[in-house]
Amino acid sequence: MSIDVAAIRKDFPLLARTVNGKPIVYLDNAATSQKPQCVIDALCQFYQASNANVHRGIYALSEEATLLYETSREKVARFIGAPSPRSTVYTRNTTEAINLVSHAWGRLNLKAGDEVLITEMEHHSNIVPWLLLCQETGATLRSLPVTEDGLLDLSELDSLLTERTRLFAVTQMSNVLGTINPVRELVAKAHAVGALALVDGAQSVPHLEVDVKEMGCDFFAFSAHKMLGPTGIGVLYAREELLEKMGPFLGGGEMISEVYLDHATWKDIPWKYEAGTPNFADAVAFGVAIDYLEKIGMKAVRQHEKELTAYALRVLENVGGVKVFGPPDAVRRGGVVSFWMEGVHPHDLAQVLDTEGVCIRAGHHCAQPLMRRLRVPATARASFYLYNTRDEIDVLVGGLKKATELFGHVPG
Ligand code: PMP
Repeated sequence: MSIDVAAIRKDFPLLARTVNGKPIVYLDNAATSQKPQCVIDALCQFYQASNANVHRGIYALSEEATLLYETSREKVARFIGAPSPRSTVYTRNTTEAINLVSHAWGRLNLKAGDEVLITEMEHHSNIVPWLLLCQETGATLRSLPVTEDGLLDLSELDSLLTERTRLFAVTQMSNVLGTINPVRELVAKAHAVGALALVDGAQSVPHLEVDVKEMGCDFFAFSAHKMLGPTGIGVLYAREELLEKMGPFLGGGEMISEVYLDHATWKDIPWKYEAGTPNFADAVAFGVAIDYLEKIGMKAVRQHEKELTAYALRVLENVGGVKVFGPPDAVRRGGVVSFWMEGVHPHDLAQVLDTEGVCIRAGHHCAQPLMRRLRVPATARASFYLYNTRDEIDVLVGGLKKATELFGHVPG
C-alpha cells in the first residue's frame, strides 16, 4: 500500500521552488496544504471556459456551471460517506460550518441550564462559537480535560456528559498534538444522554478515511484548503432531518423559495444554507482535489503519514533538549508533531529553520486552552502530508541542531 512520493511531488509545482536559496521543505500542512497542478488547472479552466453564476441562468453556460458545482457536492458527500448530497452544505471553511451550527441550531435549541461540552484540545473555531452561544443563551460551556499523554481524559466523561448536555463538540484529530480521538464511541456516548454530537474534521478528512454515517455524528465540519483544494470553500455535513428543522443561517438571494415584504419561505436543503452567490469556482476545483486523493487512496495516505510520523518521533527523541507533546506512538496520532526545544523559543526556532528552507508553524496554533494545559506559551509544529519524505524530516532535524548551536542548549 505504499505510494510513489517522487511521482506525487512532481504534481505539486510549489514543491520545486527554493526558499532562502534552499529547496523548500514544507512541513506546515496542518495550516494549509499545497495544491496539485490538476487543482490549479481546474480553477483556471473553470474561469476560462465554464464561468457563469449557478442556479440562476436558463442558458447552457449557467446550467453547465451548476452541473459542475453540484457534481462536486456529490463527490464531497461520497468522500465522507454522507448518505446524500442534500446533507452537504458548502461554507467558507470549518470555522463558518461550526458557526452555522451555533447560529442555526444553537439559538433555537439552547436555554439557561443547558450545557455544551467541548474538550481542552479544541481549536478556537470549536470553542469561541460555543462561548458566544452560551453567553447569549445562558447555557454553560464545559470542557473535557486532556491527559499528560495528550489524550482525552475519558475517566471524566461520565461526570461531564450528562442529561443537561445538548451538544458534544469534539475534534477528530488535534491540530496541535495529532491525537486521533475515538469519535465513534464519543458520539455514541453523547447520544446515550440525549445530546447531539458535532465533530470537527478539519484535520482528519485530509489524512484519514472518514465515514460520517458510520461515525454517527449529527454535524461534521471541514475545509478544502487543508486537503489539496482551494481556500475559501468548506463543508458542513449535517443529518438531513436537522438541516430541515433548523435554520436558516444567513439570509439573502438563492436561499429562498418565496419572498414577500412581511415574510419569506426557504429553499430546500442544502441550498437553504447557501445565501448569496456561492464560491462555485473553488467548489469545482475542490471536487478535483477529491478525485486526486481518491486516486491515491486514503488508506495509502494514512499509511505513508504514519510511517513519517513514527520516523519523526524516533529522530526527534535523539535531538537534545526536545520535548515532543502528544501520544508517544504513531498509531493514536496523525502526522502532526508539536514540540518544545529547551532554551529556544519556537518563534526563534521557526526563523532558524526558515533559513534552511523549512516551513514549520510556531505559536499557539489557535488552541490557547491547550497551550495552558501543556504549560507552554507556544509550540513548534511540523505537520506532514502525502508529498513529504524522510529526507525532509532529516533536514528539519539538521535545522534543530543548528538552532541548538546558535542559541545554546540549556539542559532543562
Ligand atoms: N479545527 C481544526 C482542528 C483546525 O486545525 C482548523 C485549522 N487550523 C480549524 C478548525 C479551522 O479551519 P479553517 O481556518 O479552515 O476554518
